[in-house]
Amino acid sequence: MSDSRTAYVNGTYMPLSEARISPMDRGFLFGDSVYEVIPAYDGRFFRLEEHLQRLRRSLERIDLDPRISGSELRSIVENVKDRNGGGDIAVYIQVSRGAPTVRDLRFSQGQPTVFATSISPKGVSKEVREQGVSAATAADIRWGGCDIKSTALLANVMAMQEVGGDAVEAILIRDGHLTEGGSSNVFVVLDGRVMTAPRDNRILAGITRDVVLEILTELNIDARQEEVPEDTLRAADEIWITSSTREVWPVTALNGKPVGSGRPGPIWRLVDERYETIKRAQ
Ligand code: PMP
Repeated sequence: MSDSRTAYVNGTYMPLSEARISPMDRGFLFGDSVYEVIPAYDGRFFRLEEHLQRLRRSLERIDLDPRISGSELRSIVENVKDRNGGGDIAVYIQVSRGAPTVRDLRFSQGQPTVFATSISPKGVSKEVREQGVSAATAADIRWGGCDIKSTALLANVMAMQEVGGDAVEAILIRDGHLTEGGSSNVFVVLDGRVMTAPRDNRILAGITRDVVLEILTELNIDARQEEVPEDTLRAADEIWITSSTREVWPVTALNGKPVGSGRPGPIWRLVDERYETIKRAQ
């Protein structure tokens, strides 16, 4: 199938199929780059400022000056969204430390590479809503900078390969505790209480995670950001995974065993319903 998407590379909009980046790019050589995925509904971004702020934070954490203003970044993602048809869409934007002539781990500030294009969000399909999804646990072998939204995702890639089969997500365990998914945050419900791992350098602070925490507060549901032991995860009545492209998915099988009743749970239903309203009320 031909891919007619439009991309942005360093100041120019072009067909994605014609976009070119140097093999000396530090993003390619070292994973020396950060990114964002920003969802839009009915052509309007959802939580745009939060995503741009997180991009700023990621850039600051790796000491990368993008040499581009916040308003320029905003107009790039708006343009990429609109040039790709708007509607229900997500924009991928990546900033790397550019392509110097020598391969050297040490860096001096050069011209960064900015790349953006659109991707299709998965959303919550009828099938996911009715049946939920399968996930499996894997060891979290990542580094101590998981709060940086880095493109260095090798450990996440390996975790996904490890879980294989019909698992749509690897749920990561570090030192006997839940951290997050390979590309999502994870919520656990046990005895009416909702839990998710605390916000620190072991997880990416998901924008969707924040939206879900807001919804739970609004619904007066007891929600805690605290250490979640692996045993609690395994005994859960409900498990959800959250991300900007998937929203909130109920996990109804973990490691081949049913989670709770094996059907999407009642608290997930409340959250899903509210999320649907909020995402279009921009
Ligand atoms: N954790 C990781 C490791 C991720 O890759 C993602 C998706 N970008 C998330 C959490 C969820 O973040 P968000 O809700 O902002 O998409």
